[in-house]
Order: sequence, then C-alpha cells, then structure tokens
Amino acid sequence: MAAQVPADLAFEVVELPGKGKGVVSTRAIKAGELILAESPAFTTGMRRTEPMITAAVDKLSASDRLVFHSLALSDNKAALGPFLGRMETNGIEMASATGAPQQGLFLLGSRFNHSCTPNICRTWDGGLGKERFVASVDIDQDIELEIYYDALYKRQHERQNELHAKFGFWCKCRACCLTGAELADSDQRRAKIDTTRQVLPQLIAQPARFVQLAKEALTALEHEGIYTGRGPFAYDCFQASVAWSDLEAAKLWAARNLELQKREAGVGSSEFKRMEALKANPKAHRSWGAFGRKQKVERP
Ligand SMILES: [Zn+2]
Repeated sequence: MAAQVPADLAFEVVELPGKGKGVVSTRAIKAGELILAESPAFTTGMRRTEPMITAAVDKLSASDRLVFHSLALSDNKAALGPFLGRMETNGIEMASATGAPQQGLFLLGSRFNHSCTPNICRTWDGGLGKERFVASVDIDQDIELEIYYDALYKRQHERQNELHAKFGFWCKCRACCLTGAELADSDQRRAKIDTTRQVLPQLIAQPARFVQLAKEALTALEHEGIYTGRGPFAYDCFQASVAWSDLEAAKLWAARNLELQKREAGVGSSEFKRMEALKANPKAHRSWGAFGRKQKVERP
C-alpha cells in the first residue's frame, strides 16, 4: 500500500456502531501532527466508467485489491457497479499536475469518516504526490478522527442534501445537530465564508475591502472551529500585499499563513516550504508590483 504511516502510529481502523468502519486515535495527538501521508492507489479524470475503474483495480497488488473491495459502497452508488460505485463513494478530489480536477483513491485515507467540523485537515501535496492528513487540534486517545468530504462551507440543509446525494449518509456531526439561533448563526457564518471565497478574486484592486472581507471570513472559520481554508485566506491577503508592493504587509501575511498552515497542510508540506521562501523574499512572487504603484495593505 502506498501509505506512509509515521512510525509512532496514532490511529487504528475500527468498526463504529451505526457508522461502519472509522478511524480512532490510539494515543494523544498534538495539533499540527502529520498522522498519514498517502499516495493514491490510482487516479481518474472526472469522467469515469465501470470498465475504467475495473482496469485500474486490476493493476493493484492482490492485497490492495482485497482492501479496495472492503471499502464502503454507498447504497445510492451501488447501481453504478462494484468498482465505479466504490470509486464514487471513496474517491477524493485533488488537482492534477496540470490543474485539471481528478479523483484519487486512497486505500487507507478513505477510511476516515466525514464531519462538517473535522479534527483532521486533508490537503493534496502535488510536490510530494501525497494526500496529507494533519491534526488541526489537540486530540485525546480514543477519539474518532474525521476529515471533510464536501460541502464544508454550505448551510446545514445544503450540506445534508449534498452529502446524502453524493455519499448516501445523513451527517450527524455537531454542526449538523445545531438548532434554533445557534444553527442560524452557523449557517450565516458558513455562507459568508463561501461567498467570500467566490468574490475575493474580483476585489483585489480594492485592498481595504479585500482584507476586511478576508479577516471576517477568518473570524467566521474560527467561530465554526474549522481549520481547513484559514491558510488560503491569509495567502489571499499576502497576494494582495505583493500586488500592491507593500513589503511589510506581505511579510506579516506570509507569517500568518505559515502559522495557520501548521494545522492544515503541516510544516513538512511543499506549500509550507514555498511560503517560508516567500516570507523571506516576497518580491520573488510573480505578482510583485502587479499594480505598478504602492498602496498600503492592512496588516493581519
Ligand atoms: Zn455535518
């Protein structure tokens, strides 16, 4: 299996009542700890067929084929066939080298269940060719380790419908059990995060508004207890600082990004190393001075 599991293994795959298999910590885990880095057993483009997946599985070792057939097959994907159905139930979206979307099948990584407030961040590291699973909080022993599959920044009813349609389960995570005013607040924050992600690229010419929205989204992520996506907002502000030639702001936003990334991609990731270099020399970024004049960008 193409998984790199640290020597000091932090988890085991177990049967969980009512959930099928899941991943549980076997010891205390520190925030920022890499618990798994795994290469995909195979990848496919977004147009997949039963014969394509069958051919990919045929190329695996005998033991990996057994693992593949033991993976979950959601009820509403079973009609696609045992191979494509399992790919659709377990595949994780990742960018290819060309940036085109593709899906990877991770034999161990697909054992993690979903939560809309996950305690594990998963990120694709193109430089290493691995999906990295990093603890975003301190975790005690005997706690379920969860990642997100999809729909993280949607309202509760949207997440429920999307997760059920794609993966065949009704999410019962903490965020999905909220009601009343707490639910309204959570929905509003997630919708704000989603909107901000969409509108920011069009606002880079207005740095004050840009940074204000990014900061609000970071606060919303903090209130929601979500770590996935924090680093990228700090990176957006770094990019704005670079484009507006504000060297000091660029260094501070790069530092903020690195601090947040420790709990997302983790310190050993390609992205972390790239940002360390950019923090030392923001002028090396290809967008340095893109607007041709200097404008002050708000600090973190
Ligand atoms: Zn949920």
